[in-house]
Amino acid sequence: HADLALYQAKNCGRNALQFFNHHLKHKVTLELQLEEELRQALISDGGLLLHYQPILDLRSGDVTKLEALLRWQHPRLGLLSPDRFLGIAEANGFITELDAWVLRRACADLAGLVAQGHAELRVAVNCSALDLSHDDLPSIVATALEGAGLRPQNLELEVTENALMSSVNQALGLLQRIRELGVSISIDDFGTGYSSLAYLKRLPLDTLKIDRSFLFDIPGSEADGEIVHAIIGMAHILRLQVVAEGVESAEQLAFLRGLGCDFIQGYLFSRPLPLEQLADFLAGPDAS
Ligand code: C2E
Ligand code: CA
Ligand code: CA
Ligand code: CA
Repeated sequence: HADLALYQAKNCGRNALQFFNHHLKHKVTLELQLEEELRQALISDGGLLLHYQPILDLRSGDVTKLEALLRWQHPRLGLLSPDRFLGIAEANGFITELDAWVLRRACADLAGLVAQGHAELRVAVNCSALDLSHDDLPSIVATALEGAGLRPQNLELEVTENALMSSVNQALGLLQRIRELGVSISIDDFGTGYSSLAYLKRLPLDTLKIDRSFLFDIPGSEADGEIVHAIIGMAHILRLQVVAEGVESAEQLAFLRGLGCDFIQGYLFSRPLPLEQLADFLAGPDAS
């Protein structure tokens, strides 16, 4: 719409220019309002919620991990996915508060699942790149664990490859402190960044998540297949477990199994679920 407005403005002179300005103002006002509403949702603990996507261990056939994915139930706009609002929190300096809220909620929810008998289940929580510039990230993590009474073995942090590589030395120190707590670390969206083997070797990592862009054309694309093959091989040499993200077809699953991939996550197995549905999913088919 903005492009169209600009075009009209250029071609039709003054009236159109006013229209364009009006359009921009409207857009800015909308973003400001969303920002304010997001801050309120965070402060009042109303409207933000987590969905959990089960991650399947291909060897045991069990769900051993979940990924916590943030949602915002907006009063007028409906259920918003993170791509719609994370940027607002990042641009306005409260992404780390938002991620701390996610950590607390995920730890509390997982403590509930542990109490229901899922003692070894682990929840993976996403970190924004900006979180890695906060020296107190380890204490935020420790506080969330303590508050929920959750063991560190039940928690994993996901950090994107790009976030890690943008300031390797800072990230290295922080992640080491977090890992000393007993929390695992995974490198997310792997293959989309530019990490070198030297860094991968140095970073305290447990799991590597292959970005789903490499899976789109599998089994069709031989090149993508070879890349996935190579990533899995390299990860295993570095003693990292591998999660393939965005698995949508039985063919992709068969291919990944053949390559010795450790875990899969994707719509084929399960979409991200609200907590109540997740409990049913974990209880299995005989429970209902
Ligand atoms: P991500 O960490 O790469 O998370 C995986 C995304 O892929 C999720 O999107 C998930 O719903 C989607 N997905 C899972 N399986 C499939 C599949 O089979 N096919 C397709 N097409 N998509 C699949 P979602 O929930 O919209 O999250 C988008 C991104 O937002 C995440 O990407 C993550 O980077 C970020 N994010 C989510 N929650 C948080 C959070 O609490 N904090 C921060 N900082 N970022 C978050
Ligand atoms: Ca993730
Ligand atoms: Ca990812
Ligand atoms: Ca992603």
